[in-house]
Amino acid sequence: MRRINVFANKTPLSVETERLLKCKLENSGFVVPKEFDSEAELIICIGGDGAFLKTLHEYDFPDIPFIGINTGHLGFFQELNPDGLDEFIFRYKKGKYGIQPLKTVRAIVSVGNEKFEHKGLNEIVIKGNHSHSIHLNMSIGDSFIERFSGDGILVATPAGSTAYNYALGGSIVDPRLELLQITPIAPMNTTAYRSFTSSVLLPPNLSVKINPEEFINTGVLISQDGMEKRYGQVSEIFIEFSDSVVKLLRFENYDFWNKVKSKFL
Ligand code: NAP
Repeated sequence: MRRINVFANKTPLSVETERLLKCKLENSGFVVPKEFDSEAELIICIGGDGAFLKTLHEYDFPDIPFIGINTGHLGFFQELNPDGLDEFIFRYKKGKYGIQPLKTVRAIVSVGNEKFEHKGLNEIVIKGNHSHSIHLNMSIGDSFIERFSGDGILVATPAGSTAYNYALGGSIVDPRLELLQITPIAPMNTTAYRSFTSSVLLPPNLSVKINPEEFINTGVLISQDGMEKRYGQVSEIFIEFSDSVVKLLRFENYDFWNKVKSKFL
């Protein structure tokens, strides 16, 4: 039997859409498991981008295609609206769709002898704890680049370029390009501190190494797609593309730049 996982957030429209969708899928011969099924052929997320990101993290970036149904949010990742369920099932059964592969970013955080991994589809953000400014020595590849001082540093994937990165003045990147974008968050530029004030773009084979300044290290906050974790004494944060690729199901008329226009202009 063909199985499809369905997840929804708790808004009334999402709950109603979930109920309707489950009925329609079952009437069309699909099984909707009660719990996450790692052998399912598709994951449908009902809600906004936030609901999609939450599901992605909860099930640790599964290798199953996703499609989103937008129930009144920005819905940049979402492909469908609640009034398009019948057409979706019709087109899906006919195989009239493509897969958009999205690269993810990972950070390895070293604390003493321990290492912690964080992964993001949108971005990894490094900030100081409790609104303190943060001082970070940053290297790109083997070259030391700068001693950053400010609120923090964001490393965005192309998929995440339209999210927090864009709000910070970063560039929108077509996800067919493979690059990481480092965007400063409120960098200080004074006679005391000098930091890049614009985003810099890196090819996929270059990594970023960040060492928080030892003597003024009051703790580090790491955020992966908005999910935060706080650390005490961090010696190093290593950031690069991760091997996980998120697969989004897109219909034939999907066009990244039309989506950008419809959501931002
Ligand atoms: P959230 O409330 O879940 O999301 C904030 C907004 O960002 C929502 O409108 C969300 O869309 C939208 N969004 C998420 N991913 C996007 C993408 N790839 N392209 C365009 N818009 C996108 O906030 P959160 O839980 O703190 O963090 C989730 C994400 O929100 C983070 O990964 C971060 O990129 C973004 N964020 C943005 C800002 C900002 O713009 N100043 C600040 C913090 C976080 P939906 O309405 O469809 O959920």
